[in-house]
Amino acid sequence: MFTENPWLLKYYDILIKFCLNIFNKSFNLVINYPCELNVKLLINVLSKWILCKKKKRKYFCNICSNCYFFDKKIHPNFYFLNNDIKIDIDCIRNINLKLINNIYFGSYKIIFFNNYNFVNIYVNNYLLKLMEEFYFKVIFIFTCFSYIKIPNTLLSRSYRFFIFPPSEIYLLNFFKKKYFLNNISDKSIISIIRINYFSPLKTLFFLKNQFNKRLFFLNFMNNFIYKKEIKMIEILLDESIDNLFLLLTIFFDIIYFEFNNKYYYNLDSLFLFKNILNNLLLNDKIRIFYKIYLCINNINNIYFINKKILIYELVYYIYFLNK
Ligand SMILES: [Zn+2]
Repeated sequence: MFTENPWLLKYYDILIKFCLNIFNKSFNLVINYPCELNVKLLINVLSKWILCKKKKRKYFCNICSNCYFFDKKIHPNFYFLNNDIKIDIDCIRNINLKLINNIYFGSYKIIFFNNYNFVNIYVNNYLLKLMEEFYFKVIFIFTCFSYIKIPNTLLSRSYRFFIFPPSEIYLLNFFKKKYFLNNISDKSIISIIRINYFSPLKTLFFLKNQFNKRLFFLNFMNNFIYKKEIKMIEILLDESIDNLFLLLTIFFDIIYFEFNNKYYYNLDSLFLFKNILNNLLLNDKIRIFYKIYLCINNINNIYFINKKILIYELVYYIYFLNK
C-alpha cells in the first residue's frame, strides 16, 4: 500500500487501531504534519478501508462494490475537498445536500478536507452545526500543516493526531537504497534533507531536479568577495530553485560556525564559505541573515509585492556591508 511512502505505514496502523476502537460512531479527526509527507495518500487509503464492506484486519478487500467505487473516484459517500477549493458557506451547504441526498447504506460517510485553511467564523459555525445534525455515521477529516489553521471550537470536538517526518538516518538510508545515489555523498544527501525540512517528497524532488543548481549557487557564493552583484541578482531571481532560501541557510551556517555549533544545513559545503567567514564581522553576518529572512517573509506574505526590487535591495545591502 505504501511502497513509495513507507514512512506512512506506522501511522496507518495507528489510525486503523483508533478507528477499530471507535467504530460505529461519528467522529472528527484533525491530522497535523509539519512538512510534505503525502498524508493525502494515507487518508485516502484509510478511507477506502473504512468504507470497504469485507475488510479483514487492516486490509481492504479490493473486490466489493465500495472498493470499486472508491478506486474509480466515484464513491457517493466520500467527499474530497482540496485546499485550492474556497471553503465558503455555499461549499458547506453543498456538502450538507450531498450528505442528505446520497443515502448509500451500509457504511460511513467521509468528508476529507485536505490541507484545511480556516476561512471565517460563519463557515466554521455552520460546519460545527452540520457535525451535530446527522443521525447516520459521518467522519470529518481535516489535514493541516499547523493547528493554527483550525479554529479552537473545531479542535475541541476532534481527535488530534500528529504525523512526524522520518529521521535523518532513515531518510538517508531510504534514498540510498531506493534511488542508488552512489555518486552523491552522504553529507550532501543529509544537507538536502535538512534544507527540505525532512520532507521525503521535497528532498527527492530536490535531488532529481535542483541538485546541480545548488552546487552552482554554492560555488558562486565562494566568489562572494569578487562582488558580482548583477550575477547574484540573476541567480536569486531564478524561479526554478529557491536560491533565496539557500542563501538564508548559508548565512545560518556561517553564524553557527562562529559559535562552533555542530548543526549545519550545508554540511557538505562549509569549506566553500571561508571567504564570507573571513570577510565579514559577526554583526554584519547577523544583519544580513535578518535582512534575507525579512525579504523571504515579505515575498511570501505580501501580495503584489515586487520581488525583483526586494532582491535588488537585498543584494546591494549585502555588497555594501562586504566592501
Ligand atoms: Zn472492499
